[in-house]
Amino acid sequence: MPAKIIDGRAVAKRIRGEIGAEVDDFRKATGSRPGLGVVLVGDDPASAMYVRMKRRACERVGIRSEARILPAAATQQAVEDAVRGFNEDPAIHGILAQLPLPDHIDEEAVLSQISLAKDVDGIHPVNIGRLGMRGREPSFTPATPTGVMILIDESGVPIEGARAVVIGRSNIVGLPVALMLTNANATVTICHSRSRDLPTLVQGADILVAAVGRAEFVKGDWLKAGAVVIDVGSNSAPDASSDKGYRYVGDVDFESALPVAGHITKVPGGVGPMTITMLLANTLTAARRIAAGCK
Ligand code: NAP
Repeated sequence: MPAKIIDGRAVAKRIRGEIGAEVDDFRKATGSRPGLGVVLVGDDPASAMYVRMKRRACERVGIRSEARILPAAATQQAVEDAVRGFNEDPAIHGILAQLPLPDHIDEEAVLSQISLAKDVDGIHPVNIGRLGMRGREPSFTPATPTGVMILIDESGVPIEGARAVVIGRSNIVGLPVALMLTNANATVTICHSRSRDLPTLVQGADILVAAVGRAEFVKGDWLKAGAVVIDVGSNSAPDASSDKGYRYVGDVDFESALPVAGHITKVPGGVGPMTITMLLANTLTAARRIAAGCK
């Protein structure tokens, strides 16, 4: 029997509907709307597209969004000033620094400037540190990993006690996903470019999260039968039949994985729609906390 598809688009739509209704309640109760401040540095087309997508998603659920767009040559001081400006702005409840920042900018110094109460991307070094420590609670968890956890929950397969393999250890996806799975009591193996014999490591996984950035890298015959497979990858692959000349594919070879996995996400339509949805949810939470007087 082919794997059941975990439909990220449908889950995201349901959650965005709930967020829209709750934003409306917030507006009626406080007379204001939750606000997201985005800092974008440079003219990378992909980053500009992500910022536009976030703005449109905010508008659809009634969240205000404001962008500070700085030139690629912006100084460290200018980028940090943009973050501090949002920290002090009472109409902004969540702050996002669109990554990657240009090479000459000290990313950690910028992220460290974000007020913890407004760190809706969960990427402040203190929040990541808290995520990795027992008994500590980050103010927010990063958007993509949070979306991944919700999609695993959608499968109905218990995380506690499961063997989970995460391929990738980036700051924004692999590492926080591995920490969140550990906190949910899975037994986690983190794989990366120096891991040996990846197929054997993957073979042991009840839950596989692939965040590699390589098109169709994980093959179906690596998988344990019935595994939950969450494909974070978003890679363009040449496709002469498409008007654009390319299509988006994941890090998992979907065709060969489908007959083996128990549950699987698609690309597009899996993790992608969840990422912005989690950002919206975190912005609403930040606004509520700030309105309730939490620091
Ligand atoms: P990244 O920073 O490039 O990290 C990739 C990770 O994969 C690294 O840890 C790297 O290992 C590991 N890796 C690379 N080649 C490998 C190999 N041959 N075997 C095993 N591990 C290997 O990428 P990222 O930012 O985490 O993103 C990963 C993918 O997710 C990309 O396709 C990206 O576009 C996608 N993404 C999607 C969303 C979404 O919302 N859908 C959000 C973020 C990212 P080392 O650490 O050893 O270098």
